[in-house]
Amino acid sequence: MANLKTGLPLLIFSVFILISAELASQTGVISEKDIFKHISVLASDSVEGRFPGSSGDEKSVKYISEIMSSPGKNHQYVQNFEIITGVSAGKNNSLSINDTQVVFNKDFAPLSFSASGQLNAEVIFAGYGFDYNKGEISWNDYANINVKNKWVLLLRDEPLPATDGYDFKNILQDRDKVITAIDKGAAGVLLVSPTAFDKNDNLIEIKNPDGSVKVPVIHITRNIADKILSPSGHNIPELENKIITEKQPFSFNTGSFVNANTDIEIIKARTSNIYTIIEGNDPVLKNEYIVIGAHYDHLGFGGEGSNSRRPDTTAIHYGADDNASGVAAMLELADVLSYGNYKNSRSYILVAFGAEERGLLGSKYFIENPPVPLQNIKEMINLDMIGRLKPDNSLQIGGVGSSAEADSLLNLINKNFDFMLVLSPEGYGPSDHASFYAKDIPVFFVSTGAHTDYHTPEDKAEKINYKGMQLITGFIFSLVKELDNMPQPLTYKEAGPKAASGARHGGARKVSFGIMPDFAASDINGLRAEIVTPGKPAYAAGMKNGDIITAINGNPVGDIQEYMFRLGQLNPGDQVTVDVNRDGEKVVLIIQL
Ligand SMILES: [Zn+2]
Repeated sequence: MANLKTGLPLLIFSVFILISAELASQTGVISEKDIFKHISVLASDSVEGRFPGSSGDEKSVKYISEIMSSPGKNHQYVQNFEIITGVSAGKNNSLSINDTQVVFNKDFAPLSFSASGQLNAEVIFAGYGFDYNKGEISWNDYANINVKNKWVLLLRDEPLPATDGYDFKNILQDRDKVITAIDKGAAGVLLVSPTAFDKNDNLIEIKNPDGSVKVPVIHITRNIADKILSPSGHNIPELENKIITEKQPFSFNTGSFVNANTDIEIIKARTSNIYTIIEGNDPVLKNEYIVIGAHYDHLGFGGEGSNSRRPDTTAIHYGADDNASGVAAMLELADVLSYGNYKNSRSYILVAFGAEERGLLGSKYFIENPPVPLQNIKEMINLDMIGRLKPDNSLQIGGVGSSAEADSLLNLINKNFDFMLVLSPEGYGPSDHASFYAKDIPVFFVSTGAHTDYHTPEDKAEKINYKGMQLITGFIFSLVKELDNMPQPLTYKEAGPKAASGARHGGARKVSFGIMPDFAASDINGLRAEIVTPGKPAYAAGMKNGDIITAINGNPVGDIQEYMFRLGQLNPGDQVTVDVNRDGEKVVLIIQL
């Protein structure tokens, strides 16, 4: 033990784990006391809200592993994987105008999706950076300029309201403008906020990881922009006013040189999935697996970009209901399935997923790296927020439409429980079952529903309905036994889309290829089509699951943002050429929209 002082808290916690683990498990029955114990550990101050990659995460993994692994019975496995948890500005950010240095974080700052790199080049002012055509109406800030290998200085937001017949909403995001500038050959982009857009002219904060483009992108203050513009005799307020009153682009060479270096650090963390396998006793059926899963991660201390509903509050988000409750029930099921009297024919995988709050990253990793052949996984039961059974006894179960038998099966089981079942068909949803549904596996998404403490520091252990949890865990145990006793696994059925609409990335689009993008894949220089939906345009054109889209109509696609941006430029009826990388081979597809 290196340094006793620092080691002590961990030592105390380890002893605490061992005692509670000893006390908690291996009773063979679903006990309210054990559920209470699991939640009081996982929603305690010491695990600090279980943020992926934090010491609280490590402690949670240790506790769950301890409980899952029972000597001589079950072995527990830990799958480690890396996630991007943040970006920050490195030490080497600099910028000079005509050899005059300006101040980092006062005069300029790189954007979170900027490339890291150096560029010394002339600056071209290109207005609002649009190349817009809609019927008669067009607005092209690049019409009379050549920005090849130059810096482009752009005004953020839009010059004119939609009332003037221009609909810039799909192309006015900073990222959209940067993609257009790169398409025009720019080697770097400088963004400045118009007075109308941000009177206080605050520099954009580097916050959340968001992939990266291939050129430096820097936000500068209006004061600095005016320095760049001074040889031309123009300044930002005057240019803003000119373009808005004359309702037309005005672009020109500023006559200034900017030499800048951007340095963005991607913050990665290691987190885990923890699982155990309870093998079946039937020589044949034991090759069929039922997965019971629950994510164990949560929001840590919350804050900006954490999905907290109190982003301005930095405090431990205990996540007792979300999702210490699901993990506690999963651990109790592991106990009763290992030590109870029930002898299972099929095999069970009980798994605690990491990084669910960061985009289902743990369950996606599990699906991409399954411990058993994916086709042997016959059903998945996802427990997420089952700790707040309400007086009306309502129990929500989603994904019911993803198998032919689920509805009647649940109602049959409920005869012994009397929950008010609220069943919904969709296979896709905001939790880990979505990763399994995406692979055509019948799913159950069990929850007691959201509440006002959801994703706030108030989601505490003392607010859990422990009696309700014991009942719900009993219900799941019955479901698991019923699935095990069925002669055949459930019959998979399509139950709605396999992914969220494009809403997450800049609003709905006019057209769709009908693919489910792989949001988790990064650094693949393209967009991986995780699922190509039969009957949709891409499928009809011969796109295959796993194809990596690298260009649309010859315009490069480096990631989801560029893909959504390019999609935003297309219209129903268009015929589009799409380049894909299929196992290293380039394939060109013609998609009819
Ligand atoms: Zn959750």
